[in-house]
Amino acid sequence: MNMTGDGCVICNADLVYLEKSELMTCNVCKKKFDSNAHCVNSHFVCDECHEKEGLDYIETICSNSSEKDPIALANAIMNNPNIKLHGPEHHFLVPSVLLTAYYNTIGHPEMIPEKIKTAKQRAKNILGGFCGLYGNCGAGVGTGIFMSIILNSTPLSKEEWKLSNLITSESLYDIAMHGGPRCCKRDTYLSLETAIRFVEKNLKVRLESSVMHCTFYPRNKECKLRDCGYFPKNARI
Ligand SMILES: [Zn+2]
Ligand SMILES: [Zn+2]
Repeated sequence: MNMTGDGCVICNADLVYLEKSELMTCNVCKKKFDSNAHCVNSHFVCDECHEKEGLDYIETICSNSSEKDPIALANAIMNNPNIKLHGPEHHFLVPSVLLTAYYNTIGHPEMIPEKIKTAKQRAKNILGGFCGLYGNCGAGVGTGIFMSIILNSTPLSKEEWKLSNLITSESLYDIAMHGGPRCCKRDTYLSLETAIRFVEKNLKVRLESSVMHCTFYPRNKECKLRDCGYFPKNARI
């Protein structure tokens, strides 16, 4: 396990070093390796996964995860140092964690890797800064990518077309009403919460959903602090 950085790339906790190496399963790719370090919560991440760039890291972890809670999965991914505080990788992160949670919840985890590949191709077309420059936050658009993939929507579809556009519009509405400046964490949380509500209402599938307080605000100099619903209530400013 690569020990650069300041803690576990899954949960940020301290690392524990063992005198003798043990066979451990990588929490990202699920392959087994001999290692002499894991975090206090028993996470182990192999060297290869540790060095992966943002998009590949998201693809690997989501393709191998049994997580049913998209918010918990998003938080685990965003703690990785390869995921920047703000950036277009969030456009892929949103549909990926939703696809993983959705297919795990309906009992079809074997479909996840192929669906994530499709999401990666589509999300690449959403440029950085789309929120402010095109009025079309990429995290919100990510919910539309998710919906179009699970419904196999095309430009010629009827109901699937409607739901794919509707989930994006509801995400963007929530994102817009919170006002700028952009925060890829806030906009990711808002998109995921909108998607969880939308999927339960329209597809009758209930995804798990953790209560969440942002842990990223100390790194965000444009944080709206108490004007953001995800800002921890007991945080000192
Ligand atoms: Zn950990
Ligand atoms: Zn690995």
